[in-house]
Amino acid sequence: MRIDLHAHSNASDGTDSPAELVANAVAAGLDVVALTDHDTVAGYGEAAAALAGTGLTLVPGAELSCQVDGISLHLLAYLFDPAEPAFAAERELVRTDRFRRGRAIVERCRELGAPISWEQVERIAGNGSVGRPHIASALVEAGVVATVSDAFTPEWLANGGRADVRKHETDPAVAVRLVRAAGGVPVFAHPGADKRGRTVSDAVIADLAAVGLGGLEVDHTDHDEPTRARLRGLAGELGLFTTGSSDYHGSRKTVRLGEHTTDPEAYQRLLAQATGAKPLTG
Ligand code: AMP
Ligand code: ZN
Ligand code: FE
Ligand code: FE
Repeated sequence: MRIDLHAHSNASDGTDSPAELVANAVAAGLDVVALTDHDTVAGYGEAAAALAGTGLTLVPGAELSCQVDGISLHLLAYLFDPAEPAFAAERELVRTDRFRRGRAIVERCRELGAPISWEQVERIAGNGSVGRPHIASALVEAGVVATVSDAFTPEWLANGGRADVRKHETDPAVAVRLVRAAGGVPVFAHPGADKRGRTVSDAVIADLAAVGLGGLEVDHTDHDEPTRARLRGLAGELGLFTTGSSDYHGSRKTVRLGEHTTDPEAYQRLLAQATGAKPLTG
């Protein structure tokens, strides 16, 4: 079983349409792929429709933008009921604020001499939940930086960078409770990704475990070996399962689908906790 529990489509900041993501997951030899767009479930319908005849299993999910003590973090949510109103309202709040903040970041970039426009970013983002990677692509188009990753520096879009503007982000303990109340399973995404910015302490992770966190994403491109070992130990102490995932973004990042995978036993633990939705198999 090849299981990849973290992938983005162009419903957020990936470059594959949901249908292309399904086709690419099949081509990558995956048995299970989770669709985890930022703060949106807008890709579900197209992804589900593309499953027919593939044998692939789709785990519907999302990746929620959270913040605690001024530190941004991401919470993966799997198999929640997308219609549950409280959680749906919170996703909507974050998505709406992404537009205000996207415009403000573009304004900042222009003040700093980058010849990009909001119309350009809208074109790049299409119907996707707009984020810094879209603005990074605009900076690449404008020749300001060479790659998307080069835009995530203190000069431009990195957390706390010259052109970074914060968006509404949910307190993670609130988010964990919202996901559980919608029947979903919350997993802390890349908790040790310190090259992106500050990361939270083990004590914060323990507090989240106490309010219902299910697992930690351990095998991830942004974690070195010592970080993975530390997180595996912490998960064991807290009774959390651990996952491995690519965090695929199509051509916007270099990571490949299936580059990191989750073992079937951890996947079974996740499924056993989910009551809001079921995986779909084509
Ligand atoms: P946003 O959700 O708009 O705050 O943008 C955050 C997204 O930017 C993350 O989900 C990543 O996809 C991307 N990102 C953050 N830091 C980096 C980085 N150092 N290099 C490349 N992409 C990054
Ligand atoms: Zn992303
Ligand atoms: Fe993330
Ligand atoms: Fe992600």
